[in-house]
Amino acid sequence: MVRPALLTGLTLCLLPVYSWATPPRVVADIAPLHSIVAQVMSGVGHPDLLVQPGASPHSYSLRPSEAEALAQADVVFWISEELSPWLESPLENLASSAHKVEMLELSATINHPFREGATFESHSHADESNHEEHEEHEEHEEHNDDHDDHHHGEHDPHAWLDPMNGKAWAGHIAQILSRQDPSNAETYQKNAQAFQASLDKLTVSLSERAEHLKGIRFIVFHDAYQYFERRFGLPAAGAIALSDASDPSPARIREIQELVSKLGVTCAFTEPQYNPGLVNTIFERSEVNTVSVMDPLGVDIEIGADHYAELLNRLMASLEQCRPQS
Ligand SMILES: [Zn+2]
Repeated sequence: MVRPALLTGLTLCLLPVYSWATPPRVVADIAPLHSIVAQVMSGVGHPDLLVQPGASPHSYSLRPSEAEALAQADVVFWISEELSPWLESPLENLASSAHKVEMLELSATINHPFREGATFESHSHADESNHEEHEEHEEHEEHNDDHDDHHHGEHDPHAWLDPMNGKAWAGHIAQILSRQDPSNAETYQKNAQAFQASLDKLTVSLSERAEHLKGIRFIVFHDAYQYFERRFGLPAAGAIALSDASDPSPARIREIQELVSKLGVTCAFTEPQYNPGLVNTIFERSEVNTVSVMDPLGVDIEIGADHYAELLNRLMASLEQCRPQS
């Protein structure tokens, strides 16, 4: 006959220590950031993702399961209100007690201001929560004046497309999670360091690939890629839609069409989140190749720890479909 006291004591001894601590519930807004968080949490737990693949983070409605994840969250990592103005209210109302981290606000984040114009010359970005403003050029100029006063609308939010931001964010995520969950601090730190080293390697290999592409002239669908363009020295000639992916005006479309012959543009990229018909229509009477897709969110890439590196690899692969005119 087994004595209950002995059995209990034995069972307790056999249980590993970490099973007593529940990992924090962590939520990330978009798949690339979710991937970075998943890297840091590897072996401890899995973060939840808010914006599902194929949807645009610029405008989104939370499903009940995603709202529930927010309500249960201990920590929420999100890019910024410039990217997803709709998320502010659910963060306040559903995740009021969670620790919320806006990645674009971190001092370590490399920020680029919104670019101007369809050809990056004539107008800047406006407040994304107010679509009317996009019609008004004057409003944009005004917006540009208050550089010192940090308010939303100032920075291009697509900052995850610079792997150096991914690297900085991994370190910061590890810090936050270590404070939240000290029992796993060592794992978070080690994971972050390993991921940072892998991003350094990836950046070197992407830079080598970029060397073969210098001088390509391409147009992107929405102005989402400047972090990638600048990191690898491959600037886009223009963007059909603004950084918030709002519909381009007829004037902007005309500007883009004129640009094609002026700058020798050879490629225009469609995006899986948006209608490719528009891109084809704009360039149907030109020599521009519109068959390639460029995707800032990696719709077709499996969600999880490896998503981020694969996303950056595929962006370069998209540009590799566009060769300079010979
Ligand atoms: Zn975007």
